[in-house]
Amino acid sequence: MNRGLFLDRDGVINELVFYPSHGEWESPRSVEELRMLPGIESPLREAIRRGWLLFLITNQPSYAKGKCSLESLQQVHERVLERLGEAGVVITGSFVCYHHPDSQIPGFGPCQCRKPSPHLLREAAARYDVDLTKSWMAGDSGTDIEAGRSAGCRTALIEYEHSEARRGTVRPDLVCADLAELVQKIA
Ligand SMILES: [Mg+2]
Ligand SMILES: [Zn+2]
Repeated sequence: MNRGLFLDRDGVINELVFYPSHGEWESPRSVEELRMLPGIESPLREAIRRGWLLFLITNQPSYAKGKCSLESLQQVHERVLERLGEAGVVITGSFVCYHHPDSQIPGFGPCQCRKPSPHLLREAAARYDVDLTKSWMAGDSGTDIEAGRSAGCRTALIEYEHSEARRGTVRPDLVCADLAELVQKIA
């Protein structure tokens, strides 16, 4: 069986964007707003070299909330994968939840897959023969830690500077400043 490194995307791989209209740091809604976090490529390549399969597990509710088009959100995600690929970082599987429980858009309301649900981690594990007990989930939000724990993974909180308000109260197994520290510590 494989071991997986499940990664949240926003605040781990790419920067959050400050939207003055809501006064909050949120996921980028267009390719123009996308900024990758500096220095992530090398630790991710190192993780692959050490035998981790990389997965992205991300909630992207901005369309469901009426903030932008679905196409625009999908373009951002494609671009993230492209940028990683250009740097030699192979993502084995990428899983996106586009839903939100309060959505008024048919088909984009309550779902099974939105973190903190472990649904997408389990789906990835089943599809790619991953042993969840030998895997890690890393993210900058409390919901990432909850999802990882519910899936049976070990969990790491990445202390991204703009997501302090999202960290919640669930205790992770590990707290790291960034992906470089994480990859070093999980060996
Ligand atoms: Mg995040
Ligand atoms: Zn969903």
